[in-house]
Amino acid sequence: MALRKCPICELNYIREGETVCHVCQKAKKHIDEVEDEVIMCIECGEYPVVSGHELCRDCLKEQQRQADLEILADKIRQDEVDEPLEEDIEEDVEDEE
Ligand SMILES: [Zn+2]
Ligand SMILES: [Zn+2]
Repeated sequence: MALRKCPICELNYIREGETVCHVCQKAKKHIDEVEDEVIMCIECGEYPVVSGHELCRDCLKEQQRQADLEILADKIRQDEVDEPLEEDIEEDVEDEE
């Protein structure tokens, strides 16, 4: 009975009719399962997510665009409220005194 070494780990011997050792077989199965588990975009649900994100590439782009717009809007809003806010504080101080 000729024993061959596993072509993947080259540590364990494999039995006749097997292509990889039992350790690599387990590992391979695990990898296959992980790869099969494609997480779909939570926004559109049509495309797989970009790894590390909850959104697909298109939705990430859109989210980034919205975030940029919001930052811009916040800046404009802050510029608008800055002056009246200071006046309010001054009035409050005057009222207290
Ligand atoms: Zn192996
Ligand atoms: Zn999407």
